Amino acid sequence: MLFEIYSKPPEVHRDAVQKYTQNHPEVHRDAVQKYTQNHPEVHRDTVQKYTQNHPEVHRDAVRKYTQSHPEVHRDAVQKYTQTTQKFIEMLFRNILKTIQKFIEMLLENILKATRKVHRDAVQKYTQSHPEIHRDAVQKYTQSHPEVHRDAVQKYTQSHLEVNREAVRKYTQRHPEVNRKTVKKYVSKNPHVARTKSNKYKEKISEIRLLPWTSKHLSAFKYKPNVDYSMDEIVNLGPRLPCSWCRALKWKDETQGMCCSGGKVQLPNLEPYPEPLHSLLTHQDPLSEHFLSTIHDHREKDIRCGIYPGIKPELISQLQKSLHEHNKYIMDFKAAIDSVPKDQKEFKVVINAERKPFGEHKGRFNAPQTKEVARCHRWTRV
Ligand SMILES: [Zn+2]
Repeated sequence: MLFEIYSKPPEVHRDAVQKYTQNHPEVHRDAVQKYTQNHPEVHRDTVQKYTQNHPEVHRDAVRKYTQSHPEVHRDAVQKYTQTTQKFIEMLFRNILKTIQKFIEMLLENILKATRKVHRDAVQKYTQSHPEIHRDAVQKYTQSHPEVHRDAVQKYTQSHLEVNREAVRKYTQRHPEVNRKTVKKYVSKNPHVARTKSNKYKEKISEIRLLPWTSKHLSAFKYKPNVDYSMDEIVNLGPRLPCSWCRALKWKDETQGMCCSGGKVQLPNLEPYPEPLHSLLTHQDPLSEHFLSTIHDHREKDIRCGIYPGIKPELISQLQKSLHEHNKYIMDFKAAIDSVPKDQKEFKVVINAERKPFGEHKGRFNAPQTKEVARCHRWTRV
């Protein structure tokens, strides 16, 4: 039977297949399904071709499907919309970034160019008006000390040798500032100073000191490794008291340097004449003033009466006391009184050989030449 069909012309075969298909639609459907599953690419190509050739059929099918499955359609539309939106956003963001980068680059270039122009202009102006520049720098430094300090510190750290040279020059020109600074630093950091002095001592102790043997011209050649302090010329030993008068003397000082072995005995000191006694023993209202003034080194100025701030009543008390008790002044007054009153200029001669009656010669030594020279000519006031 099958052989019979194939041997017949093709249109006969086609009609037979069609008839069979119509009578057995489920067999045809199963066959088509099987083929489609085994050859999906053939099926797809066929569908595509059909769709292209019959767009209206495809459109109707899509519309029908959409109407009967609105939720599927909605999901598809939403997915598509979201994807599109995201794409647009990304695109927009990229465009913005590119524009921003471009603008930044442009601005930077403009700034660079402007700065260069500005810098050149400032440099030219500064070179032609150095005094204005100096004043501006000075003002700025004064109003921004911390900026100045930081800049100096940075520069100093990167140019140590320049800083060292500047410090050396300044120290040479301002030794007193350096001395003060060192003193302040030492008082604030005693441990540092101590370490330095200890180091120095250690260094000195490391050097073995030699005895002072060659003394010829030693004064002009100081040698740090010679121990001068231990030589008998320098080290005189302790001072010992005289067994009679208790005067402190070096070991080679003779007996004649003090009491000649107890032969000379000084009388006891008499009490001070008044008002000295009261002034010295805090019994006078002017005692404090007097005691604070006698320690002053400008005593000779007080005597000449040109020392300001001294109380006149104290001077008059002391003068009176001197006139009453000091033998020099008494002799001096007598000598002055013997000069005729109309004589304006006269000489006072101090004779070293003369002494007041009944007094020891040593108590009334003549003044030294310089002292005499200063007061030998007097003018009566
Ligand atoms: Zn003695």
